Amino acid sequence: MTKSPRPVPDSALLGQFAAIVGAANALTTRDGAAFAERNAERRGAFAGKAAMVLLPGSVAEVSAILKLAAETGTAIVPQGGNTGLVGGQMPDGSGAEIVVALTRLDAIRSVDAATDSMTVDAGVTLAAARRAAEAADRLFPLAIGSMDHCQIGGNISSNAGGVAVLAYGNTRDLVLGLEVVLPGGAVWDGLRTLRKDNAGYDLKHLFIGAEGTLGIVTGAAVKLYPRPRGKATGVAGTASPAAALTLLHLAKERAGFELTTFELLPRIAVDFCISHLPGSFDPLPERHAWYVLFEVSSGQSEAAASALVDGIVGAARASGIVETGRGAIDAAEAASLWRMRYAISDVQRPEGVSLKHDVSVPVGRVPDFLAAATAAVLAVEPEARPVPFGHLGDGNVHFNVSQPAGGDPAAFRAKAAAITDTVHAIVADFGGSIAAEHGIGQMKRALLPTVRSAVEMELMRAVKTALDPKGIMNPGKVL
Ligand SMILES: Cc1cc2nc3c(=O)[nH]c(=O)nc-3n(C[C@H](O)[C@H](O)[C@H](O)COP(=O)(O)OP(=O)(O)OC[C@H]3O[C@@H](n4cnc5c(N)ncnc54)[C@H](O)[C@@H]3O)c2cc1C
Repeated sequence: MTKSPRPVPDSALLGQFAAIVGAANALTTRDGAAFAERNAERRGAFAGKAAMVLLPGSVAEVSAILKLAAETGTAIVPQGGNTGLVGGQMPDGSGAEIVVALTRLDAIRSVDAATDSMTVDAGVTLAAARRAAEAADRLFPLAIGSMDHCQIGGNISSNAGGVAVLAYGNTRDLVLGLEVVLPGGAVWDGLRTLRKDNAGYDLKHLFIGAEGTLGIVTGAAVKLYPRPRGKATGVAGTASPAAALTLLHLAKERAGFELTTFELLPRIAVDFCISHLPGSFDPLPERHAWYVLFEVSSGQSEAAASALVDGIVGAARASGIVETGRGAIDAAEAASLWRMRYAISDVQRPEGVSLKHDVSVPVGRVPDFLAAATAAVLAVEPEARPVPFGHLGDGNVHFNVSQPAGGDPAAFRAKAAAITDTVHAIVADFGGSIAAEHGIGQMKRALLPTVRSAVEMELMRAVKTALDPKGIMNPGKVL
């Protein structure tokens, strides 16, 4: 959808918006850091200039904002924790858009252990939601590296994935019901906690993964699970991703649904952690080309989880699938290893320019994809350092590529488009997705029509036009 230029709202209109939330909750450039941090993504990859940042304190205020926006044709950019990696939460640089940040909508509305569900405001951080579930002896399983900052509304709007997709699915699989303020201000209360409900179209799915282009999520009812009674982590060193895939199947056979996480790391990621993340260490006595970090969650006990992990590592070593491995690592050491896993993107930063490709291919094709993509990248830049890591359990690889060691960042940036095109072409060859879990945002908008058919694009545009006829919701994102 082409973005039409919008006039910058005048001070009278901004005053009307500010009056809805109160002056203290309407930020402008005069508010310094509080305004600036909502206009730049944390890594500095995307920045913008909003006319104003509004911090509504109730659903009624969100509704009044969208009503006024629709009446005046003002563009609205919903923002959660501002951890998104594709620029969806950023205003453009025109000074015409208003950011609506959900931070103040941060109540846990209810936790219903009998129904295994929880209803929360959209601005609750993922970490707080997980704590609330835990306080009721339940698990909210979504787990991503940004969980201290990202919000449930942002998780839903980006259909976040993370390390527990293998066992519990994406955010989409965890949502029972939604409350959404529609462009124009109407509030859709779909906060149902039913497990079965086939009464017409299931509207919540329109908003999950919509990246703020169809409305503002203000509340969500989500699924809870039994809290694991014990967890254990294992680590293995393998010669190849193919061996890691064989280990995945062995682990699934032995642990079934209790295998909750299965992550692949290349040696270079471990090296980067050791160089740049204090407290990092070699997980195994010898160097290996690839590492697998996996977790088992037992419904019975710590001992049962440990026994499963020990069994998996023991069987894999005995059959030669892995070069070596350690089962049931002690809790403190396991926490440090998971910290290293979560930090892989961060530790690439001191190594210079890093190109990110959040892609997925069918799980069984990950090894061949990694080989093909690595060879293709090196054909473009022989000194490039691929750092492919991620969720082998669900086929989602973060195919990051660091610049040559000590090389010229500008020279590497000049090859960025060629490298990215190459990676995406190989993803297509493998029947994969160029937007596995981070979404389209503004970063991949131009790519969407290249990976979706004309029929799919037309359907998406029809949905957008039906829900947001004035095009006020997050223009320039996704479509
Ligand atoms: C260190 C790190 C690790 C990460 N790991 C993962 C990972 O493993 N898996 C993964 O999927 N992602 C990951 N991410 C990306 C990011 O954290 C997720 O996409 C997260 O779900 C975004 O939530 P947020 O609240 O920060 O949303 P924001 O970044 O604020 O917004 C993201 C999108 O959602 C829209 N939006 C936000 N809130 C609302 C709302 N209430 N209503 C309507 N639209 C809204 C925005 O307009 C934007 O388009 C990671 C990011 C970082 C920095």
